[in-house]
Amino acid sequence: MQKILNFIGGDMMEPLAGEYFENEDPSIGKAYSLVPDSDESDLEHAVKAAKKAFPHWRDMHAALRAGAMHKLADLIEENAAEFARAECIDNGRPLSQCSAANIARGIANLHFFADEGQKFAGENFKSGKIESYTLPQPIGVVATISPWNLPMLLFTWKFAPALAAGNCVIAKPSEVTPMTAYMLSELVNDSGIPRGVFNVIHGKGAKIGAAITKHPDIPAISFTGGTSTGTEIYSTAAKQLKKVSLELGGKNPTIVFEDADIETASDGALAAAFSNQGQICLCGSRLLIQESIYERFKIALLRKLPNIKIGDPLEADTQHGPMVSKAHMEKVLGYIDLAVKEGGRIAAGGKRHIVDGRCKDGYFIEPTIIEKLPPDCRTNQEEIFGPVVTLLPFKTEEDAIAIANSTQYGLAASIWTQDDARAKRVSAKIESGIVWVNCWNVRDLNTPFGGVKKSGIGREGGRRAMEFFTEEKTVSRMV
Ligand code: NAD
Repeated sequence: MQKILNFIGGDMMEPLAGEYFENEDPSIGKAYSLVPDSDESDLEHAVKAAKKAFPHWRDMHAALRAGAMHKLADLIEENAAEFARAECIDNGRPLSQCSAANIARGIANLHFFADEGQKFAGENFKSGKIESYTLPQPIGVVATISPWNLPMLLFTWKFAPALAAGNCVIAKPSEVTPMTAYMLSELVNDSGIPRGVFNVIHGKGAKIGAAITKHPDIPAISFTGGTSTGTEIYSTAAKQLKKVSLELGGKNPTIVFEDADIETASDGALAAAFSNQGQICLCGSRLLIQESIYERFKIALLRKLPNIKIGDPLEADTQHGPMVSKAHMEKVLGYIDLAVKEGGRIAAGGKRHIVDGRCKDGYFIEPTIIEKLPPDCRTNQEEIFGPVVTLLPFKTEEDAIAIANSTQYGLAASIWTQDDARAKRVSAKIESGIVWVNCWNVRDLNTPFGGVKKSGIGREGGRRAMEFFTEEKTVSRMV
């Protein structure tokens, strides 16, 4: 089996204790690689290397840092087909989507933040005889901890701004999908990023993730993952007053008003519910439909649902692959059982899906639509993170807003209406960090990204990410 290695101080390294665990291909349900079970000794080694590398990287001209980051992006692009295939095998997302989204965005993130690092500057102020300016300065050694659902996209999204701002990074990808982070680390030395500036440590969240969180020489942590993990990281980090950015779970509403274009809105609602098998924090897992068009809209959904092709994610026309792991598949199926116990009616799907041939033991679940559940039941309150969407009828704009805001989460929402004034009113009242009008998951990397309530703390994207990875110093003088 292929061994994944850590990347520390510019060297590909076995974990110092020599321990590994297995990594599965979820489309066939079999282990195919070994992941380092890293511990505190690996982390000490990485922190030492990063601290040593920091002064040089910090003082390097931003254009040179940018050059190395652009080069890394180019190297990934040269190998984009291998990256997409590896991501597909590791995560289960269909190959075409890994290529167009995960890998393409990974490359774009590096280019974008390389440029952002050159533009990012402080501010000037003048008040009477006081003239001031600010100096945003890198923090030092920072950590990024990322999840399995969009491995390459989120791994780069977190570490690229940290590097661009002049920090050295300890990056921990998810132990469930470590492969493309490992492949990326193999290209770093050829990019011109100096040894020790960027380090990748693989391993389990409760072990190496927790060690990173409490390490005294890592004063800032950028985390994307589940709300309970984020809460734990926040509480550990608080004891040392560390800076944290937390991008957490969601239970996002898709709201369809009676004046929406039913064809476009039903396409949008299906994409929001089932993209990446529902394993995107931004997925619209609660579909709120105005009562007067409820039946018509449901019929449109049920008519289009069979067009989603489930199958071997390596096949070019597959749109719906397996869940990322057996444990996750079982969790999602458990939620479907719960929905039925809570009085839900399964309008479509609801079962494990068996694919013939190579993927017969894969962890597939049918795209599932459930109705007749009240907004406050567990199915409608808890993040399922799978291909499961509930339909919720509503009467008025106020009802829609109340239902949309009735969960502990507040990451994203999409609103479907042809009435601009209504779109503005509802957007302003929805409790979430992001609202899309007549679209879903369109991303401009300059815009702030993040959630409210239990969906997170802070904003990433554009200059917000650069601000997170810097400390701002104010210099004032009398003139
Ligand atoms: P997770 O919280 O289980 O793991 C995320 C990362 O944290 C992994 O690298 C893991 O090893 C690490 N980790 C786990 N326990 C840790 C600990 N005690 N200390 C430090 N690190 C630890 O999340 P997941 O299951 O990988 O990802 C799915 C979750 O991520 C969903 O809730 C989803 O909504 C969320 N997510 C949020 C966003 C966003 O931008 N808001 C984006 C993608 C995913």
